Amino acid sequence: MHTHIIPKNLPNFSEKFGYGDFITLLHHKRGYARMMKGEKFFREIGANCWDPKIRISEYQKYNTRIQVVCTIPVMFSYWAKPGDTLDLSKFLNDDIANIVSKYSKNYIGLGTVPMQDTDLAIRELERCKELGFPGIQIGSNINGFNLSKPRFFEFFAACESLGMAVLIHPWEMMGSDQIEKYWLPWLVGMPAETTRAITSMIFGGIFEKYPELRVCFAHAGGSFIPTIGRIEHGFNCRPDLVAVHNNVNPREYLGKFWVDSITHDPKLLRYVLDEVGSEKVCLGSDYPFPLGDLEIGKFIEEMDLPIEDVENIMYKSTLSWLGLSNANEDAEIKELIASK
Ligand SMILES: [Zn+2]
Repeated sequence: MHTHIIPKNLPNFSEKFGYGDFITLLHHKRGYARMMKGEKFFREIGANCWDPKIRISEYQKYNTRIQVVCTIPVMFSYWAKPGDTLDLSKFLNDDIANIVSKYSKNYIGLGTVPMQDTDLAIRELERCKELGFPGIQIGSNINGFNLSKPRFFEFFAACESLGMAVLIHPWEMMGSDQIEKYWLPWLVGMPAETTRAITSMIFGGIFEKYPELRVCFAHAGGSFIPTIGRIEHGFNCRPDLVAVHNNVNPREYLGKFWVDSITHDPKLLRYVLDEVGSEKVCLGSDYPFPLGDLEIGKFIEEMDLPIEDVENIMYKSTLSWLGLSNANEDAEIKELIASK
C-alpha cells in the first residue's frame, strides 16, 4: 500500500510557470531517467518507476496482486504558487487515474493535493474522489507548518466527510540542511519527521476532532512507536507543555491509526504489532526505491506469525484503512497465503 509512481513524460513546469525548480525527467538512456530539480541532479530512476507493466512483472514475483500507488514526495511541490501546484497535482492524479482504469486489477491510486492552500486542496481532494481514488497522500509538514495548524482543520474535516483515507509520508525533513552527509535526511530525518506528524496530530487534537478520519503513517510510524514511552512520560510530567490542546494520553492513540510494515527488522515489527495490533499494520514496500522492502514482505512471511496477523498485514488492514472490501476474493487470497 505504499509504493511510488511517476508519469514517464513530465511537462517542463518551470518553463510553463516561469519560475522554480520543478522536477523534470531526462531520459538519458533506455529504461532509465535522471530526475532533475532545476539544473541539479536529484536521483536516477528506472522504468519500474513509470511503466505499469514492468512494475506488475516485478511485484508479481513476490506474490503481490495489487499495488497502491502514489506520487513521489518530491513532486508535492507545496513551495510553489497554489494554482500551479494544483495544475501539477491534476497532471499527476490524471496519470494515476489512467493507469488505474487501464489496469484496474493491478493498481489502486492515491492522489496528491496542493496542501499550501486549503480551499484548492479540498477542491482537488473532491476530484480525487471522483477519479475513484480511496485516498490521498500528503507530506509530514506543509512548508514547515505542522499538521496540527488550524489552517488544516477544514482539510481533515473534508477527508473525514468524503471518507478519503490519508497517507502521511515524511518529506522536507526538518534540519536536512544540517545533516546532508551520509543520507541522513532519509535515515535520521524521515523517522523523526513522521514522529513530528503523529505527535502534532495527537497533541493538536486532530484525532479527537475527526474520529472517523483514517490515517496511515509511513515507515511504521517512524520513531513514534519506539519512543512512545518517552512521549507518554513527557505528557504526564509536563502537561503544561504537552497537553495544552488535548488532554488524552498519547498512548491511547496506538491502534487508532494505521502504519505500514516498512521496518526491515522483524524484532521491531513484532513490537509494532504488539503496540498497535495487526489490524492496523499494512504491507508497505516503498517500491521501487532502494530503501524500501523490495522483497515485498518476505521477512514478514519468515516471522512465523499467526495466520490472522499475516492476513491482516498482507491485505485486510489496507482494505480497512482505505474503506474498501473485497469479500469475493477473500477465499482466493486465503488459498494463496496457505500455499506459501
Ligand atoms: Zn515512500
